[in-house]
Amino acid sequence: MRNNRILVIATRNKGKTAEIRDLLDTFPITIKNLDDFGPIPEVIEDGETFDDNAYKKASFTARVLGYPALADDSGLMVDALGGAPGVHSARYAGPEATDEQRCQKLLAQMENEPERKAAFMCVISIAVPTGPALTYEGRCEGLITRAPVGDQGFGYDPVFYYPPFEKTFAQLTMAEKSQVSHRGKALYEIRDEFDKVMKWIDQHMPEPEIVGCQGE
Ligand code: IMP
Repeated sequence: MRNNRILVIATRNKGKTAEIRDLLDTFPITIKNLDDFGPIPEVIEDGETFDDNAYKKASFTARVLGYPALADDSGLMVDALGGAPGVHSARYAGPEATDEQRCQKLLAQMENEPERKAAFMCVISIAVPTGPALTYEGRCEGLITRAPVGDQGFGYDPVFYYPPFEKTFAQLTMAEKSQVSHRGKALYEIRDEFDKVMKWIDQHMPEPEIVGCQGE
């Protein structure tokens, strides 16, 4: 098997990995994530947009590991907070905070706010070690709750209410969430053109070096 049939998901986030694995499960590729490799340097996510950070993570991982890599950069944009926490969603309550603390901080900031509209955004970048990348996007609109509800999912799921289902994302099964979520939408696009994505990867992966024995 050529090494371009391995796709590395450039994350250590278990929630994201599970959702991505689940949606790409039926395809003839081996999916790995960063935990399948030894320690590699952390990517500094200092881009100003989801696009910048997704590309940074995917291309860095592809270059370091020598495999095609898929990275998701995502976050929650709250209208009343001018689009915050946005690209800073993961570190909104400090680098060591838990998902619960991030949700609590958000609810505190929204306490006296009647306007509750928000959207999850996701940009997925698929990169090869030589630099080029494909980009996919998904968005899902909802409302910020007044208290956490539900115990499924991860991140801000318990405070994100999705009106068409009359539930928060944390009350949905993974399959239900993926049908409508920002990440699900981006991944469905990838699934729809998976053959093209594989062909693109094949065309852009460097040829494996053939090392001959001395004297040949
Ligand atoms: P990053 O993409 O690694 O920078 O992290 C994005 C952060 O946004 C996550 O750590 C979560 O806090 C939040 N986030 C992204 N997608 C979701 C989701 O599907 N549900 C809940 N929170 C999410």
